[in-house]
Amino acid sequence: MRGTRVLVLNTGSSSVKYQLLDMADGSRPAAGLVERIGERTSYLRHAPAGGPRREREEPVPDHQAALKAVADELARDGLGLDSPELAAIGHRVVHGGRRFTEPTVIDDAVLAEIERLVPVAPLHNPANLAGIRTAMALAPHLPQVAVFDTAFHTTMPEYAARYAIDTAVADAHRVRRYGFHGTSHAYVSRRTAELLGRDPSEVNVIVLHLGNGSSASAVRGGRCVDTSMGLTPLEGLVMGTRSGDIDPAVVFHLARVAGMSVDEIDVLLNKRSGLLGLCGDNDMREVLRRMAGEGPDAESARLAFDVYVHRLKKYIGAYCAVLGRVDAVAFTAGVGENAAPVRQAAVDGLEGLGLAVDAELNAARGGGPRLVSPPTARVAVAVVPTDEELEIAGQTYALVGDGTAGRK
Ligand code: AMP
Repeated sequence: MRGTRVLVLNTGSSSVKYQLLDMADGSRPAAGLVERIGERTSYLRHAPAGGPRREREEPVPDHQAALKAVADELARDGLGLDSPELAAIGHRVVHGGRRFTEPTVIDDAVLAEIERLVPVAPLHNPANLAGIRTAMALAPHLPQVAVFDTAFHTTMPEYAARYAIDTAVADAHRVRRYGFHGTSHAYVSRRTAELLGRDPSEVNVIVLHLGNGSSASAVRGGRCVDTSMGLTPLEGLVMGTRSGDIDPAVVFHLARVAGMSVDEIDVLLNKRSGLLGLCGDNDMREVLRRMAGEGPDAESARLAFDVYVHRLKKYIGAYCAVLGRVDAVAFTAGVGENAAPVRQAAVDGLEGLGLAVDAELNAARGGGPRLVSPPTARVAVAVVPTDEELEIAGQTYALVGDGTAGRK
């Protein structure tokens, strides 16, 4: 009989994050990360459940070396890639294009297709591919599954996925709205239905994933019908360092008037904009702290907060219109789960749409999914912690497990 554990790997351009999950009992025997891959000193952290965590700094030149280090750390705790408990490796893959609508067992054809999508995800898919190829070499006996960030959004109707540009140009270069954070939107919308005690097929949910990257989605009966990120994760909400929605002509203007190159504008909009661009801090904790003070520092933080919240409100309103009937608005990720003032401000004045938060419930801190709207509210407002690792492990296990361990 095959094991019940899944190793989830999230390989970024300069980092690898991992978690080992047991689908039989819901435990997480180990987790860790390797950061600053390719720099002079990289940082490694491995945290076995119940044991002391191990940290060190040393050069890790590439993804191959990083995954080898991860495998060694796991083996030190008797959790190596050859352990019989391990059923599969689940990989987060950022871009699955239109083709990958479901988690997929990886073979050569799947690798080739992920490679074909590199032009639309030049930062992410090459790193994901490096992680997959190395994991396949280290553990050729294990099934490896790709879980795509875009998959949940492939149910968007064509009119929500299309940009209103020349169809021939769009099709030739695969320019359309794909959406990201799909595993989080899938997980959170399902958990929100559970919180309401209803089947996902019966409820309409607006999910607000507010982390360092942020996106909103409109989910009707468990299927995504619109989302705020587009061809790339740049579109939509104001984020930690990304501008979100912007007049595309800003790009032409900066090129013509400021003499900036396309690459410079890319860096400006993706890395030096959003909260960071507006006030110099990309961390919402810092923005909130500064807002409590006085003077120019507080004013710029307040403006950044207001721009952030204004955009958020516009998306809530838009998705109320897209869905027609809304049963719940769910806040998730670092900001959504922890920043009560953001939740409060986002629904402030939206009573006409049936939205309100109860100040006391909203201010309370709690671990699990919870309602923060008053009991009489027409639309439930919820805080639902996301768990992308669990979703990836669950989807992976559902595909390759032997069916004896239930999804948690
Ligand atoms: P994530 O990408 O989901 O890990 O979210 C990271 C972001 O969440 C950070 O950059 C912070 O802006 C935000 N964050 C985390 N904890 C808090 C908190 N207690 N209050 C406000 N924002 C927070």
